[in-house]
Amino acid sequence: MKDMKSEIKELIKGEIKFDEPMSAHTSLKIGGPVEIMVFPEDPVSLKNILLAAEKENIPVFVFGAGTNLLAGDGKIEGIAVSLRAFRNMELTRETDDNHLVLYVGSGVPLALLVNLARKNGYSGIEALAGIPGYIGGAVYMNAGSFGTEIRDVVVSVAIMNTHGDITIMENDKLCFSYRSANLPEGSIILSANFVLKRDDPVEVGKRTEEFLKKKKAVQPLGEFSAGCVFKNPAGDAAGRLIDAVGCKGMRAGDLEVSSMHANYFINKGKATCRDFIKLMETVKLKVKEYSGIELEPEVKIIGSN
Ligand SMILES: Cc1cc2nc3c(=O)[nH]c(=O)nc-3n(C[C@H](O)[C@H](O)[C@H](O)COP(=O)(O)OP(=O)(O)OC[C@H]3O[C@@H](n4cnc5c(N)ncnc54)[C@H](O)[C@@H]3O)c2cc1C
Repeated sequence: MKDMKSEIKELIKGEIKFDEPMSAHTSLKIGGPVEIMVFPEDPVSLKNILLAAEKENIPVFVFGAGTNLLAGDGKIEGIAVSLRAFRNMELTRETDDNHLVLYVGSGVPLALLVNLARKNGYSGIEALAGIPGYIGGAVYMNAGSFGTEIRDVVVSVAIMNTHGDITIMENDKLCFSYRSANLPEGSIILSANFVLKRDDPVEVGKRTEEFLKKKKAVQPLGEFSAGCVFKNPAGDAAGRLIDAVGCKGMRAGDLEVSSMHANYFINKGKATCRDFIKLMETVKLKVKEYSGIELEPEVKIIGSN
């Protein structure tokens, strides 16, 4: 790893940080230092990192805006890669039936795409307003809200595998399911093509505003969280179950089950990953005893506590 630390500057164009706390890169504000964190600016730099890591047997993990991540409190080994510099966005074509195809880089915030669509009257993603994070994370997680999921508008994605080869995967090959896309192990999403429909900007704006209002009314958007902690079990809502067992307001250290939406855990100060795991286990057990349902985490966990 020592060699890698000194060599990495030669390998990439982009920002490099050593022993950078993940807490500065997650919406929960939790996470210990990562040995190497890189923000490559182009696919060649990314490929160089992946090849060097493969050669040295160094683990690599990718993250976006860290809005669905729980990072361990201790030192996190390996290389953390974020494609936040992949921020190209362009209209690539318009079809005769009023549909448009947009190319969007992995590091573009989803909110920027939602705003562009709203401003120009492109319909299809109004319901995704208010979801934080970048395009790469949104595709990987198949982010969704109010019955719309990212898979409804993805045409294809460009991915890089662990050897640095780039392939295009069409929507039907991504096997999207609830909060997941099925990518080949270790692959990194570089960009996605989206199809939206031309519509009246005023109408798109109204619908976007309406969804945002609904979201703000039921979710604690302004607080430090990682969004929904658990996936909704079939036919029910994790938040409803957690509320039903009386967990709203329950705490572990500085972490609290939101009293607004019980499937959100809020960092009220100096919460740790250990607190998060403890609260998850307590809540899971209570829900299991009450309903027989085993809640599954939606948040992705990296490192260890
Ligand atoms: C307040 C709040 C509200 C939220 N509301 C919603 C909601 O309504 N609906 C919803 O679905 N989600 C919601 N979320 C969760 C989260 O915002 C989404 O899952 C988001 O799409 C994650 O994007 P990200 O860039 O932050 O990904 P990260 O959290 O950084 O990463 C999430 C996962 O994606 C992987 N990943 C990230 N980028 C790439 C890439 N380029 N290539 C391959 N893998 C990658 C990571 O390895 C990780 O496994 C909410 C979160 C918060 C904090």
